[in-house]
Amino acid sequence: MPRYSIRLHVDLEASQVTGEQVIQYTNTEEVALRDLYLRLFPNTPSYGGHMRVMGLMVNGAPASPEVRLDGSALRLFLHPPLAPLQALTLTMAFTVSVPLTDAVDYAQFAHIGGVMALPNVYPLIPVYDDEGWNVEIAPDYGDAVYSDVAFYQVEVTAPPTVTLIATGVCATSIPGTWQCEADRVRDFVLILGNDYEVLSQVVDGVRINSYFYSADREGGTRALQVAGNALALYSRLFGSYPYGELDVVETPTRAGGIEYPTLVVISDHLYRSHSRLEWVVAHEVAHQWWYGVVGNDQVDEPWLDEALTQYSTFLYHEFLYGSEVAAEVMQREFQDPYDRLVDDGQDMPVGLPVAAYPPDLYGPVVYRKGPLYFHALRQRVGDEKFFAFLRTYYRRHQFGIATPESLLDVLRTVTGDAQRDLYDQWIQGRSG
Ligand SMILES: [Zn+2]
Repeated sequence: MPRYSIRLHVDLEASQVTGEQVIQYTNTEEVALRDLYLRLFPNTPSYGGHMRVMGLMVNGAPASPEVRLDGSALRLFLHPPLAPLQALTLTMAFTVSVPLTDAVDYAQFAHIGGVMALPNVYPLIPVYDDEGWNVEIAPDYGDAVYSDVAFYQVEVTAPPTVTLIATGVCATSIPGTWQCEADRVRDFVLILGNDYEVLSQVVDGVRINSYFYSADREGGTRALQVAGNALALYSRLFGSYPYGELDVVETPTRAGGIEYPTLVVISDHLYRSHSRLEWVVAHEVAHQWWYGVVGNDQVDEPWLDEALTQYSTFLYHEFLYGSEVAAEVMQREFQDPYDRLVDDGQDMPVGLPVAAYPPDLYGPVVYRKGPLYFHALRQRVGDEKFFAFLRTYYRRHQFGIATPESLLDVLRTVTGDAQRDLYDQWIQGRSG
């Protein structure tokens, strides 16, 4: 597992972050690596910031990487190649400018209204798999990050008056300095704000913190309650949440909500009109299981986490409110939107990369039609086998990366049959 040791200094006035980083990386692939990539997500169009990396060294020797993908990736050539199980150390310094506008995409990486949201504010090693290094600029809809779990140790300095929220657990002994640590997480996100209040509860030994603007206490209270119910239910249905803490954070993002390891952000407008708050919180919390613990290629196989997360959100409504409400939710959230797709002649397969969908069809196909696959599966095999399938899938791919084939393998193990006809119908197929 890679180890990231990071020091970050956040300058809120200048809307800048400066940092130093040491990455200890071991080649866990079966082949020697001739090159290695670093992703600079702030330089992608959907982050809209600017990151500059300086003084990059490999095992103490200066390296001159090739700049790729409009500055959002650095390619390092390794001489000699890094053999399986061999390790190397990367050191670097960097500066990052954070956009002061909500006009960039989902505004997930931004400094707006006193809140600074900093996902992936450090160079990150992407996933190496059977396709080689996964480096691409993802479309500006959908999620962009595909990474392995790692150990993070992060020291942050920032004005002592801010509230600091981050992946893992942070402690402060000197005002203005925080020590954060996170084990077995896919990336590290940092959020700072001047006007946060927090309410907490402990559920199944997990500390859940709801951070909200001081004017939005009612929404913050509701978010905490929903997150607690969701965490308790998903732990029971899928397997226990493996971290000590979960943060639910109100931010100015325009995405509705975004999942990060041990931390989810929820759009501030949802705290004021409550109708969608419950859905979005229950959805983002489910991502801790699907995306956070069980990883997948969010860019090329987004349905693996999104469709299952949507189905989990349906399960939340079913188990909390009963079968009548569940039937309404199934109809409203999944069946009706899918029927409209078919009627409009716009049905597409669920199992495509994000970029294969026109922006207006990505949501309807992956988020609305996708969950119908899991529902059809459950109706076919029955509750006992269906939930055994989800538990086995969660356990087998915990902290790893799942693929459609590995999901079908679990189905074969648990039900004696991969039920490939349902997969062909719902994930690979389209009507008409
Ligand atoms: Zn999602």
